Amino acid sequence: MELPLDALSKGYRIPGTEIYIDPLEPVRCAIISHAHGDHAVEGHENVYCSAGTAALISKRFTYPAKKIFEMPFGETVTIEGIKVSLHPAGHMLGSSQVRWEKDGKIIVYSGDYKREEDKSCEPFEIVKCDTFITEVTFGQQDKTHPPAAEIIAALNTHDGLNMLIGAYNLGKAQRLTRLINDNLPSYRVMIHSKMVAYHKVYESMGFSLGPWEPYKREAFKNQKNIIYLVSPATLLNFRPAKHFIRAFATGWEEKAARYDFSVPVSDHADWPSLIRTIKECEAKEIFTIHGEGETLKNTPELSGIFIAPLKH
Ligand SMILES: [Zn+2]
Repeated sequence: MELPLDALSKGYRIPGTEIYIDPLEPVRCAIISHAHGDHAVEGHENVYCSAGTAALISKRFTYPAKKIFEMPFGETVTIEGIKVSLHPAGHMLGSSQVRWEKDGKIIVYSGDYKREEDKSCEPFEIVKCDTFITEVTFGQQDKTHPPAAEIIAALNTHDGLNMLIGAYNLGKAQRLTRLINDNLPSYRVMIHSKMVAYHKVYESMGFSLGPWEPYKREAFKNQKNIIYLVSPATLLNFRPAKHFIRAFATGWEEKAARYDFSVPVSDHADWPSLIRTIKECEAKEIFTIHGEGETLKNTPELSGIFIAPLKH
């Protein structure tokens, strides 16, 4: 059986073409699902991506590509004779699933995705297909992410004590800013200087994050009810202190456990979302990437569906 993508050292390639999806080395033709560093690199010749991803990689990289072709969601473009379209993945601003047709089959590459509501980006869209290539970052049975709004509202129990929360500069920081403003309005949101440009891109693309301000050291030290968002690397530089408590916003419990409280907000599909998405897209063939797909194979709800890892 022909695999839907060649897994090469540069990245995934549509068989019989020079079209790469999320390649990690510069290529002539790249479709980029989203702007995170494990999916997007700079230096390509031609890049096809959503408007949100185009805005973010243009901010992130000095030389994102020779030419960027922005693809509106749902619109079909023919690249090297292959009909390709992008559809929202709900992972972060601009994040896309990639749909193409080959040999009479409809194939969809999920990229990173989540099904939970996220007001900081376009919501996930179900795309019916024959073959679905899905991320399985959280492919462990029964791994469930609690609702993010409830996680943030529950931080209210800290009696106004300032909080330092580690979050990736791109994606997680913008989502948390919006979540805090919606669910914990008694707190002010301060952000690290490296996040400012990305916050502005989100807002320029029409996703309001609510009030936020760049970090003010004196205020964070002397006033209460402030949440300061920093990158995970910056978080490591902060030792425990009296005037704040620390957390790392992640779905990985073992990473979160090193800090004072937990913020288990994830931007990836949890187990119930994986099962639901596989059923709703009606694919008869599932290929898994980014994680262990083994547990999916033994799931009674998915019996009759062919499931295999894309890479062996
Ligand atoms: Zn990602």
